[in-house]
Formats: sequence, structure tokens, C-alpha cells
Amino acid sequence: MSITPLMPVYPRCGVRPVRGEHCHLISEDGTRYLDFASGIAVNILGHSHPHLIGALQRQVETLMHVSNLYGSPQGEKLAQRLVDMTFADTVFFTNSGAEAVECAIKTARAYHQYHGQSPDRFEIIAFRNAFHGRTMGTISASDQDKMHKGFLPLLPGFHYVDFNDLEAAKALIGPHTAGILVEPIQGEGGIREGDEAFIKGLRELCDAHDLMLIFDEVQCGVARTGAMFAYEHYGIEPDIMAIAKGIGGGFPLGGCLASEKAARGMVIGTHGSTYGGNPLAMAAGEAVLDVVANAEFLGQVRATGDRLKARLEQFIGNYPDMFELVRGRGLMLGLKCKMEPRPFVAHMRDNHQVLAVSAGDMTLRILPPLVIDDSHIDEFMDKLSAAAASYAPPAPTA
Ligand SMILES: *Cc1c(COP(=O)(O)O)cnc(C)c1O
Repeated sequence: MSITPLMPVYPRCGVRPVRGEHCHLISEDGTRYLDFASGIAVNILGHSHPHLIGALQRQVETLMHVSNLYGSPQGEKLAQRLVDMTFADTVFFTNSGAEAVECAIKTARAYHQYHGQSPDRFEIIAFRNAFHGRTMGTISASDQDKMHKGFLPLLPGFHYVDFNDLEAAKALIGPHTAGILVEPIQGEGGIREGDEAFIKGLRELCDAHDLMLIFDEVQCGVARTGAMFAYEHYGIEPDIMAIAKGIGGGFPLGGCLASEKAARGMVIGTHGSTYGGNPLAMAAGEAVLDVVANAEFLGQVRATGDRLKARLEQFIGNYPDMFELVRGRGLMLGLKCKMEPRPFVAHMRDNHQVLAVSAGDMTLRILPPLVIDDSHIDEFMDKLSAAAASYAPPAPTA
């Protein structure tokens, strides 16, 4: 037998974390890494936040899981908090981002199809280089061949146009269109921000054609960009929004948020999840919101992000052959590279003990915990500078 017990779908690197201390990870062999990847935008409070740990410990001792057959005081409380701070009137809790996007797609289709109203309105317009997850539905919502290969056929009803191309999106709208699905800031696609005119234009198109505007804020939501949710930067509201990653601070938790109108088809018996919204997950979500959902914390994310971005901009001036520009907002930042970012990320990790993530469009993603301070920025910039100075790109393979 040569297959590994862990299904070999990930190209795992040599870092084998066994412990976390605030913004650092400690590997099996004792090596200490500065973690500016945060489990891909998940560990927004770092790795050992006392408030999150305490809340989870108390809940583990009290009640972990029941079932959605029963009333949920814990779920009602967290849902109410999310409703109070957003456009939404209702929340469905999930265990992951992909499930949250699945629920969002189902909500959009059900909006049109409820009571047999418009059964022929099911198409979703999505954008090139987007990432929405790895389920059959969410890979179908992405145009990326590398995620489709081996898994065909895809789910029908998804069409893709270029991100930030409003006219192309408009041209695709037809009698079967149900909604538009977009990451306001693409994460895996390379920290690419939706232009203001594009995002506002999508809102107008949805209003004009009675379409559901679905935001995938699984990566950019929950304080990451210095606003509670990225849609707030644009002065518009979606009808449906998927969140996950940061909301659990490391505990698996996601949610599909919707306005009352958008959720009109999501009635009893239409959707479900065994684990979704269990008391332990709700305790994690509450603890994260306790820390991040206030003006002071969000202001600090913006200020810290601005300082890190300014340092990065200054830094890339020293390496014009390696880096092109810095983009993103808050603590969702990307360095667009003039070389393949992946081997450089490996060099940073293996030789300078600092973790970042590569992404599409030749971009190196910088996604630190939101609780970093200037000492972490200093440490990151020292390590990044040392890594750039010592970097020899791999020889091109013929
Ligand atoms: C990570 C991510 C997902 C998928 O989340 P999972 O928890 O891995 O299922 C969906 N959308 C976006 C924008 C993401 O970044």
C-alpha cells in the first residue's frame, strides 16, 4: 500500500505545528514561526486568545452538541447579534465556508422558485478566478479548471465573466438568471478588490432585474479588512452573504446571512445541517464577536493595516525586480510579484521562519492575526527583508 492514511490531496510542507502562542506557531521540532497566514485568514485572534479559550472550555463542560430538532438559545443569541450588526434579518449556521456558499446559492434559487413561482430562474453569474469552496456546487461556481478536473460533470447553471467587468456581467443577464455571486475582495484569486463602480453597479443590476446579490465574504468578512464586513466599504448591501473563516477564530463555523425578502423560500424542511449552529460553535462565534465587533478594535485593524501596508510599499522599492505592488485593505494584504510567489513563500518559511500564503495572479498573501502589534510588524518586515535579500529563484525547469 502506498497511499498515505491522510488522503494525499494537499502538498503539505515540512512545518508540523503542535502548539500556538499568540501570533507564533511552534513546530514538532521546536522551531518557532511568525504566523502571517493565520490558517488562511481563520485565526483572527491568534492562537491562544484567553477569551476564546475560556468560552470554549466553559461550553465544552456545559453542552457541545444537541440537534436542530431542539430549540437553540445559543443560536438565537448569535444570530441576533449578526442580524443587529448587518443588513441581514436571518442566519443559517454552517460548519464551513463552502457550506455557507451552498446555502447562499440555494437561498437565491429558492427566492425565485418558492411556491413554484419561477422554476426556470436558477442561473448564477460568477467571476473568473473566484474561489467559493470545494463542494460540487461551489467548484461549479468557480471557473478554475484545476478544481474541476476529474470531477465532471459540474452542476449546471453557472456562468463566469471577468472580475470587475460590469458590462460583461450585465450582458449575461437573461430570463433564467437568479443572482450574482461575488467576493467583494477576491482572496485566493490574489487579493483583488472589486472596484467601487463595479460593486455598486452589480447592486443596481440586481435591483433592476430582481436578482439576488450574493457576497462571498468567507475570507474578507469578520473584521479582516478593518470593517466588520467588506460590503460596508462600498456603501451598498448584498441580499445574501456567506461568512466563515474568521467568525470561529479557529473553530469550524460559518453562516449564510440573508434579508427577510431574500430568504422567503427558505422555509421549514428546505435546508439543514446536523452540526450547524451547535452550542460549542456558537460559543466560539460569540467569543470572537466579543473581541472584534467594536469600533475600537476595527479602528486598530485599519491603523495596523495601514502601517503594515506603508512598510511593505517602502520595502518593495528596494526589490523592483521581485515585487510590483501592494494591494488590499486592513489586514488582508497582497504583494503582487514579478516572480512565482510559491517558491518565495517556501523560502520565507524554511529559511526565515515566517508564514505567508501564495495566491493566484502571482500574489503573496499576508493575512496576519488581527491582534498583531508593531512588534509583529517589525519582526515580519525583518524576516521578509532577509528573505528577499537571500532569495535565489529556482532554476527554470525545461
Ligand atoms: C476559504 C473560502 C471558501 C471555502 O471555505 P471552506 O471553509 O474551505 O469550505 C469559500 N469562499 C471563500 C472566499 C474562501 O476564501
